[in-house]
Amino acid sequence: MNNNLRIGIPSKGRLSELAGELLHQAGLQFRRQERTLFARVSPLPVDVIFLRTDDIPVLCQEGAIDLGLTGSDLMAESGAAVAIRMPLGVGRCRLSLCVPESSDIRSVSQLDGKRVATSFPNLTEKFLASHGAKPHLVRLSGSVEIMIGLGVADAIVDLVETGSTLAANQLRILTDIGEYETVLIQNPKNRDPAMADRVVRRLEGVVIARDYSLLDYNISRNKLAEAERITPGFNSPTVNSTEDPNWCSVRVMVRRKEIIAVMEKLETIGASAILETAITNCRL
Ligand code: AMP
Repeated sequence: MNNNLRIGIPSKGRLSELAGELLHQAGLQFRRQERTLFARVSPLPVDVIFLRTDDIPVLCQEGAIDLGLTGSDLMAESGAAVAIRMPLGVGRCRLSLCVPESSDIRSVSQLDGKRVATSFPNLTEKFLASHGAKPHLVRLSGSVEIMIGLGVADAIVDLVETGSTLAANQLRILTDIGEYETVLIQNPKNRDPAMADRVVRRLEGVVIARDYSLLDYNISRNKLAEAERITPGFNSPTVNSTEDPNWCSVRVMVRRKEIIAVMEKLETIGASAILETAITNCRL
């Protein structure tokens, strides 16, 4: 092996494509040959290593990789001593304790001695213990949602995103155990801290750009303070003079999910020529 910085990304599954796209958009280009586990990110001294998503936290802790893309749920379950370097703004989900819709179980402590199926045994055991319950754990690596129907569990602990899997299996959430998302993790003793920082800055540029749009508008000077309260910007808005001294033009970053509401508010206070522009990358 060489001394290149190593980034571990999922080799398959829901995160695999997303991780590849993110790295490519950040200018970290690589080509994966079929069935290989490594790819070189030329011309940088960086290698991408394709791994199982749930092995990434522990392999990062052990120094096999320096950076890794994985779920914070898997990081918490593994207990690996790694740092979250950056949330990636995707894969948000909850880890929930669920029972059948028809169940008369109303509190966590009622699960004492009951059968709980999960692929998160450590988080489940810890959470139930904090509520005074010691269940019989059924440890699985997938398809947890069907285990009550199969008659092997009284409750399950599983990831929930939209809740449609639960509804399809006639389950309801008793309580949430935690909230998780996709993250970039880092081994504190990585091979090349300067290169790790450079990679992180590149990824940050893409992640922020995905979340924000650029908004331009004109506003009369006497309404500028009010407009700036509506659009405080990432750091602060850029304000330029216009030919008409009573007016100015503003350029500011706004969260994409807030953009329509912000445009409406600006229009209400008299802004004009309000333009949204998508950004694909940035350095702030
Ligand atoms: P949903 O039906 O949208 O609630 O999704 C639930 C199913 O998708 C469960 O089987 C979960 O294991 C899986 N899931 C949801 N969110 C994630 C995530 N962020 N990472 C991995 N698996 C997830």
